[in-house]
Amino acid sequence: MDLAARIGWTPSDGVPISSEEPAMPHYIVDRNAQANGDHEVHLSGSVWSCLPAEADQRELGSHDGCASALRIARLFYGKANGCARCAVSCHVPSDAVSSLAAPGAAVGSA
Ligand SMILES: [Zn+2]
Repeated sequence: MDLAARIGWTPSDGVPISSEEPAMPHYIVDRNAQANGDHEVHLSGSVWSCLPAEADQRELGSHDGCASALRIARLFYGKANGCARCAVSCHVPSDAVSSLAAPGAAVGSA
């Protein structure tokens, strides 16, 4: 007798059936602003120990990417940024932000 049959294992076991509920990542935003006024968007269930305390997490729901989660966070708070660890593709380094905020300011034009 075949071992797989004897233990009742079939090749389809352990394959999640996800057609009804697509496994989209779930995002939260920190209710507390960073020093520069940004609210950080995190992946819920991040393994990077970067999540704010549970009471400070505001639900953003499930998104197919951090870009749309960030859009929701900006609706809530005006300023938001992706976490440098768990939403790195949406993270804008703060020096880049400040150079965008002051385009060509005081470039020796006197
Ligand atoms: Zn994070």
